[in-house]
Amino acid sequence: MTVIEVQNLRKAYGDTVAVRDVSFSVERGEIFGILGPNGAGKTTTVECVSGLRRGDGGTIRVLGRAPADTELRRLVGVQLQESQLPDKLSGREALELFSSFYPSPADWQALARDLDVPLATRYAKMSGGQKQRLSIALALVGNPEIAILDELTTGLDPQARRHTWGLIEAVRDRGVTILLVTHFMEEAERLCDRLAVIDHGAVVALDTPAGLIAGT
Ligand code: ADP
Ligand code: ADP
Repeated sequence: MTVIEVQNLRKAYGDTVAVRDVSFSVERGEIFGILGPNGAGKTTTVECVSGLRRGDGGTIRVLGRAPADTELRRLVGVQLQESQLPDKLSGREALELFSSFYPSPADWQALARDLDVPLATRYAKMSGGQKQRLSIALALVGNPEIAILDELTTGLDPQARRHTWGLIEAVRDRGVTILLVTHFMEEAERLCDRLAVIDHGAVVALDTPAGLIAGT
């Protein structure tokens, strides 16, 4: 069953065409990757899928709805590259606050345990990896059907990156469909069931990791 459908998406910022022509669909239960170099249009694409930006052309359906549909806010969890929290909030306060936004939130204490989020530490004092894991926990605290994760391991050391990969696989194993943005081929190869390679705002390949490697 298709849960995300993007057809001929286009988005420009003034004269900069960030997304020229992007189409892909994501099936329930898979980890679908969007791989490409910096500036390729990955973040713009997932911001349009998340309903945070409106495309200039094309169509997007998420669980059969338009991205701006308010019902999707509890069905789709989003962790974006630039999400920032108030420096003073502790891990506990952030998780409590976010879970109060949802009618049937996940058990945030279990999430914090699974993701190794420091509850007593203020956001300003957290390491890069701790901030990253907290933002993943916040994306999952509403018990979403779909999680959108943008560059979740950027800035992490190799060990923390591998640890995070294991966590993402555990999320998928709980039945959450994952749309994952990355510019690391190794990460895409390890995690993704299928992926779209984006360059200069267009999809240049769409296959399984093994198929992509065989085709190059
Ligand atoms: P990626 O996530 O692959 O790095 P982005 O979607 O962030 O790509 O960016 C695609 C292009 O759009 C880049 O040239 C970038 O500079 C430009 N861009 C992204 N966001 C904005 C914005 N808010 N205003 C103007 N240009 C932007
Ligand atoms: P908006 O969606 O209203 O453009 P943003 O916070 O994304 O809000 O961007 C504010 C402004 O900053 C943009 O209009 C753009 O001029 C500039 N900008 C933001 N991100 C980028 C980027 N990646 N590349 C170039 N310009 C950017």
